[in-house]
Amino acid sequence: MATVATTAQICRNFINGKWVVSAATRTSERRNPANLDEVVGLVPLSSREETRAAIAAAKAAFAAWRDTPAPVRGRIIAKAALIMYQQKDELARILTREEGKTFKDALGEVIKSVNILDFMAGESKRIGGETVPSELPKNFAYTIKQPLGVVAAITPWNFPVSIPVWKMAPALVAGNTVVFKPATLTAFTGAKVAEIFEQAGISAGVPNMVVGSGGEVGDELLQHPDVKAVSFTGSNEVGCELYAQGARKMKKCQCEMGGKNPIVILADADLPLAVESTVFGAFASTGQRCTATSRVVVEEKVADEFVAMLVERTKKLKTGNGLDPGMDMGPAVDESQMKTDLHYIEVGKKEAKLLLGGERLTGPGYNGYYVAPTIFDHVKWDSTLAQDEVFGPVLSIIRVKDFDEALRVANSVRYGLSSSIYTNDAAKIFEFIDKIETGITHVNSPTVGGEAQLPFGGMKATGVGLREMGRVAIDFYTELKTVYIDYTGRKRESNIY
Ligand code: NAP
Repeated sequence: MATVATTAQICRNFINGKWVVSAATRTSERRNPANLDEVVGLVPLSSREETRAAIAAAKAAFAAWRDTPAPVRGRIIAKAALIMYQQKDELARILTREEGKTFKDALGEVIKSVNILDFMAGESKRIGGETVPSELPKNFAYTIKQPLGVVAAITPWNFPVSIPVWKMAPALVAGNTVVFKPATLTAFTGAKVAEIFEQAGISAGVPNMVVGSGGEVGDELLQHPDVKAVSFTGSNEVGCELYAQGARKMKKCQCEMGGKNPIVILADADLPLAVESTVFGAFASTGQRCTATSRVVVEEKVADEFVAMLVERTKKLKTGNGLDPGMDMGPAVDESQMKTDLHYIEVGKKEAKLLLGGERLTGPGYNGYYVAPTIFDHVKWDSTLAQDEVFGPVLSIIRVKDFDEALRVANSVRYGLSSSIYTNDAAKIFEFIDKIETGITHVNSPTVGGEAQLPFGGMKATGVGLREMGRVAIDFYTELKTVYIDYTGRKRESNIY
C-alpha cells in the first residue's frame, strides 16, 4: 500500500459518464510483473460510498436504457467492437504490461473480445422468447425476456479484457446497466475497456467502473439492494462465499471459478500433435488460464515416449518479458501467485519426480516474477499436486493402464471446467464426451480456448449459475415473462388453472 502523494498515473473510476479521481487515501501500486522497476500506476482502493454512487448512477440510467430498442443498443456494442479492433495493439500492450502475458497472447485475447462484442451486437436483434400454443381457444401465449436492472460484473486478473467484455456485452445488449469491478491487479486494462464503451457513445450511467478491493467495492456490490444480479469470475474461495451470501439476499448470481483441466492421451494418439497441444495448454499465458492444461493423463504404453518428447519441446520455450519479440511465456502475475507456484513445486518435489524446471528464474533478463516451466512425472492421481489448482506453469503427468482408468482419473477432481482427449478411436471419443465431467471438452485439440458464439463454463465446483458466452449468455441477464392474451372477449369456460 502507498499513500496518494506521487506523480505516478492514477487509475480513475468511471461513474455516470465521467472519469473521476477516487477520494481514497489508500492505493495499491502496480508494477509490471515482467520488470519490477516499471511502475504501471496506482490503483485507489475506492470506498463503499463511491461504489454506491456508481450503483445510483446505474439505477438512474436504467429506465432510458431499458426503453432504448435492443437493436439500437446492439449498434453501440457493434461500435465498441470496431473501436476495440482499431485500438487492439494499444490495448494488448497495456494488458501485457499489467498482467504479464506475452503480446501475442494479449492480442489473441483482444481479438476474442472483439468477436464477443460483435456476436453480442448481433444478438440484440434476436433477444426474444417463444410463442407457445395455449390450451384455450383464441388465446395467444408467449414469453418475453426483460432486463433485470443494475447488474455487477466482478472479474479476475487473468483475462482482464475478455472476461469483462463477456459479462458486460450481453448485460448491456439485454438492457441492463452495469457496475464493473476489475481485479485490482489489472485495473488499468479494465479502465481501457470502460473507455472503449465510452468512445462507442453509450449513455452516461449505463456502464460504470469502480476500482478497489474485493472486500469493499466487491462486497458493496453484493450487499446493495439495488444490484439485482452479480456475475463473478475468480477463485472458489471468494466465489463460494459470494454465492451463499447472494442466495440469502435472493440475488441472481453466477460464479465461474477454478479448474484442474486434464488432457488424456491414449496409446494410439498422434503423439507429436498431443505434445504441441500439451505445451501450449500448460505454458501459454504462464499456465494462468482457467482452461490451462494442468494434468496429463497418459496411457502407460506410450508414456515414456510422450514424456521424452514433451520435455524436449518444453525446453525450447522462451520465457521473458512478453513485450520482447519471440517470447512464449511471461511471468506470474504477482509475487503472491509466484509464491503459490513455488509452494506447489516444493510439494511436487516430495510427491513426484521433477523432470524440468522447478525453480524461480533470476539473473539478467529476469527482473520479475518468473517461474520456469515445470514438469512432474509419476504424479499420483490423488496427491495434492494432482488435486489443487496451481494456476501457474506447473504440469503433472499421471500414468494410467487403460482408457477406463484414464476417465476415472480425469474425473477425480472437484473441478470441471475443460478437458481434452487425444485418440482416433471413435468409440472411446464418444464414451469420453459422454462421461467426462467438464463443461467444455475437446477432441484432438488443447484444453484451452473458447469462441464467442459457444457457451463457456464449468461443472461441479467450477461453476454455478447459467453459462456465459454464446446465445445462452443473455439468459442470466434477463427475466422471463410469460404472457397470456385472450381475444375471445368473453368469460373463460374451460377448467384450466
Ligand atoms: P479472486 O481473488 O477470487 O478475485 C476475483 C475478483 O473478485 C477480483 O475482482 C477480486 O477483487 C474480487 N473479490 C475478492 N474478494 C471479494 C469479496 N469478498 N467480495 C466480492 N469480490 C471480491 O480471483 P483471481 O485471483 O482474480 O482469479 C484467479 C481465479 O479465477 C482462478 O481460480 C481461476 O481459475 C479463476 N478463473 C475462472 C474462470 C472460469 O471461467 N471458470 C476464468 C478465469 C479465471 P481484488 O482484485 O481487489 O482482490
